[in-house]
Amino acid sequence: MSTKTLIKTVCVYCGSRMGNKQLYKDQAAELGQRIAEAGLSLVYGGGSIGLMGVVARSASEHGVDVVGIIPHHLDDVEVTQEGLSELHLTDDMHQRKKMMFERSDAFIVLPGGLGTLDETLEMMTWAQLSLHSKPIIIVNSNNYWSPLLELVEHVVTDGFAAPENADLLTVTDSPEGAIRLINNANNHA
Ligand code: AMP
Repeated sequence: MSTKTLIKTVCVYCGSRMGNKQLYKDQAAELGQRIAEAGLSLVYGGGSIGLMGVVARSASEHGVDVVGIIPHHLDDVEVTQEGLSELHLTDDMHQRKKMMFERSDAFIVLPGGLGTLDETLEMMTWAQLSLHSKPIIIVNSNNYWSPLLELVEHVVTDGFAAPENADLLTVTDSPEGAIRLINNANNHA
């Protein structure tokens, strides 16, 4: 994984639910802490629920800037997190996703649902179109994302994406691995 610009702010995509394995919650808390310890700041979807809330509170408790970006219509449903360094309310999902993209230098993906999938695939498709070259790091906790990785391989194997598109995702199995990838990329930027 390489980067042209120094990674200072990471966007974390993850579930607005907790999932049903303790590992998911533990790794979300660990990622927030490691983001803080690495001196990075965090951009995320602004909610207090699910893994997204866990990451945000952990990063915040460990003293870094946390920027939440949430659309008006989810302000209640996703129970906007209090005490964020910055909170942006957007008109719609498109504006939210664009702003999350613009405010970040790299993306880390923890387990999540359809919203997380959508956000991850959108960053992949934008990279495929050379609209950005920001790293997209998948934390494959308990092999949660293996079916997605297999699907991407299948898309390439059956000729619907160029082979290099299989490399759009950088895969690790832990928050520690994700931060190590970012530190390494920054050391070579
Ligand atoms: P989920 O992974 O479904 O729990 O959702 C994670 C985040 O993605 C939440 O902040 C949701 O607001 C957001 N989200 C949910 N559905 C969508 C969607 N259709 N498109 C984009 N983002 C979504």
